[in-house]
Formats: sequence, structure tokens, C-alpha cells
Amino acid sequence: MNVPYSRPSISDAEINEMVETLRSGWLTTAQRTAHFEKEFGAFCGVRHAVGVFSCTNALHLSLLAVGFGPGDVALVPTMTFASTANVVIHARGTPLLVDSEPKTLCVDPDKLESSLERLARGETVSGVRCPPGRVKVIIPVHYAGQMAECDRIGKMADRFDLKIIEDAAHANPSRYRSGPDAPWRNCGQTGDLTCFSFYANKCMTTGEGGMIVTENEEWANNARMMRLHGMSRDHSSPTSSWEYDIVAPGFKCNMTDLQAAIGIHQLRRLEQLWGRRKEIAAAYDRAFSELPAIETPTILPDRVMSWHMYVIRLRLEMLKIGRDEFIRELGRLGVGTTVCWKPVHMHPYYVERFGLKEEELPVASREFKRVISLPIFPSMTDEDVGKVIDSVRQVAKKHAV
Ligand SMILES: *Cc1c(COP(=O)(O)O)cnc(C)c1O
Repeated sequence: MNVPYSRPSISDAEINEMVETLRSGWLTTAQRTAHFEKEFGAFCGVRHAVGVFSCTNALHLSLLAVGFGPGDVALVPTMTFASTANVVIHARGTPLLVDSEPKTLCVDPDKLESSLERLARGETVSGVRCPPGRVKVIIPVHYAGQMAECDRIGKMADRFDLKIIEDAAHANPSRYRSGPDAPWRNCGQTGDLTCFSFYANKCMTTGEGGMIVTENEEWANNARMMRLHGMSRDHSSPTSSWEYDIVAPGFKCNMTDLQAAIGIHQLRRLEQLWGRRKEIAAAYDRAFSELPAIETPTILPDRVMSWHMYVIRLRLEMLKIGRDEFIRELGRLGVGTTVCWKPVHMHPYYVERFGLKEEELPVASREFKRVISLPIFPSMTDEDVGKVIDSVRQVAKKHAV
């Protein structure tokens, strides 16, 4: 019995809706997409929701919606999936890579602030220098599903006149509050635009898919226009006439009704899917607290965690093997894992472009070498969970110094 890193949880509701959609005669963007957008917006408590083909598209269109363009700079954590930085380049801007805060592996607000101050003084930061006024956007990533320091990031955005585009690929459901007496805010309610992913292994899936949520009608309309060729009005409905105008050289990344058919039911099941993730995380926490070589995730008090990922960190000084060998050993025992992530600044394209040394982004560079993402998906049985726990325990004990 092997336990894969991830497996989507699809019920009959998704399958039946998909079949009905196939039989309906309309496969691309129409009422099911509109319906999913409406329900997803309501779930976040945000007025506008725009369905797109991926979170990568959502991030890209969000940058364009706020007017980000050639010569502009966006601050991006280096500890993220590459698309968070890639989209800045797609928008013909420059990503400025920022180091992580060691507890949560979200972007470090102190380093974010000092980067902004240094840029404002005209200094070169992480290989980036720009004239005043070119820094436009911060893209916080809610690592593993734990929301970043939204209040502090919000204050910086006000002080430096920046927009916040959140990469919430991991963060549903996730919540944030300013302190024990403050109200909870959903992910989607803290930034200017928030981008979700429905990729196959995310908290809920549409196979491939993404969503932008925002309170700003103009940005939402802009994203709707740009997701479909830059057409002046939505042309993709069974009843629309032939007539349209192209008002911008848009893209083709609309969400389809086939995706939405899955999404509508994944959203309805999200609470239940999340419940199982929480149980698995609690079981891991309990089991691994007894293993000195394994550091378990730290969740701050004012966060609700989606548990998209359960990331352990190895205390390498207590082990005779490194992270990669640890992963190979788990693989031999039949446990699938992954690493999130090799930081952006360590990938060849970015090495060539910015030439950043590990010492310049020390936390992400160091933590990358000891992180392992363990399987945590809703259809895991108790047996699967037990197998992961036993395997981690076995490898940790076998190779303890
Ligand atoms: C998965 C992921 C993305 C990309 O999502 P897609 O829907 O596959 O485009 C972006 N950022 C982060 C942090 C992710 O984990």
C-alpha cells in the first residue's frame, strides 16, 4: 500500500454535474461559471469574483488590472512557486525577491519594509534598482495556507502607495485577525486583489482553474475583459450576438463551465474536505512531537490554517542523512512527498538574471534544504496517515546521530 503525495477528492456530485454540462451543449464559459463565481465571491465575502484558467492567469491579470507594466517593480517572496515571480516578467516588470520569516516561511515583513526603504533611497536591493514611483505591487504568498502578516503589509502598502495582490493558491479556507479581540477576516478580504488556485492538488480543485476576488469593480471588469481576448463585453454566452469590439490585446484564459461544474461542488464540500485535513494535521502534530529531529509547522495564534500543505523541517544536525536522502527513504517505504520550494532565486533563469547569492536571502536558502511536504489530502484513510507517521518515525530513528 503506497500513499501518494496528493490525490484529488472527487464525489458523485462533481461527476454528475460534469456529465450534465457535457450533455447541455455548452462547454465553455456561461452560467455555470457565473454561478461558481457568485458562490465563491460570497464564500470569501468579497463582491467580485472572476474565474480564469489558472492562478497564474489570475496573478497576471491582477497585475495588469492595477496598471502594472513595463519598468514597474513587484516585491515577491523568494519562497514561492515560480509562477508568482514569472507573472511579473509576463507583465514586463521586475520581481524583487524578498526573504522569508523563519517561523511561517511567509514573506518577512521587516525585510519587506527595509527593501522598500532602501529602494526609496535609490539603493540596489536584491539586484534591483529603480527610479522613485516604480515600485507598485507587493505579492504576499500565504505559505502552506497560513496567511502572511496582512496588517503590516497593508500599512506598508499605504505608506509606499502600493497595491497588494495576494497569492492565495494555498489559502482556502484561511483567515486572519489583527489580534484576539479583532474580527476574523477571510482570505480575500485583506488585499486589493486575491488570487486562488484550483489546480489538482490544491485545497479544492477544478482540474486546472483560478479565481480573482476583489471589491474593486473596475479591476474585476478589466480582468473579465482581459481573460477573453480583450473583448469589450463578454461574448461567450449561448445568447450573445456576433458583435464585439477588441479594446485591448487580451488573453484567452477564461474559466470554462466544465471547470465550474467541478468547482461548484468542491466549494460546497470544502468545509468537509478541510475538516479531514485538520484531523490529519493534528495526528501528525501529535506523532511528530516525539521525534526530536522533526520540526512541525508553527501556526500563529491569529490565523486559521487551510492545511493545504503539512511541511516538516528536518533538524539536520540530529540526522546522519540530508533532506534528499530522507525523501528517498520515504519513497522506498511507499510514501510520496514533495519540496515546497526551491526558492525562486536558486532557479537557473533567476540565477542568470539576478545572480543572488544564498547569503543575500539566507532564511529561504537555508530552510529550503530541510523542508519536506508530507501527504495531506482529504481522501487519506487512517491507515494512510498511520503509514506516513510510521515511515517518518522509522527513517528518523534509523538515521539519528
Ligand atoms: C499552485 C500555485 C500557483 C499556481 O497555480 P496554478 O493554478 O497552477 O496556476 C501559484 N502560486 C502558488 C504559491 C502555488 O502554490
